[in-house]
Amino acid sequence: MQNTTTATWPQGVIARYLTKAAEITGDPTITVDVTETEYDVRAECRGCGEDRTNIPPYASVTVTPWAQEHAETCRALPRPTA
Ligand SMILES: [Zn+2]
Repeated sequence: MQNTTTATWPQGVIARYLTKAAEITGDPTITVDVTETEYDVRAECRGCGEDRTNIPPYASVTVTPWAQEHAETCRALPRPTA
């Protein structure tokens, strides 16, 4: 199994939360990724596709907490790629 702590994160990803679905299925690729760009911070769930975006400094009080909270409850499975 792929080790998420050592696997390379995509460029710009500053935080990654394992979702409930990942916990249940043992699939470490179902995460909520927090990505920082020059202009904003964005969190996107790789399970259900829901996302949140905000600009600094508000991102740290809205985006990151949302990402963690969402990951703890999201049971969505990503749509399989054919
Ligand atoms: Zn989700």
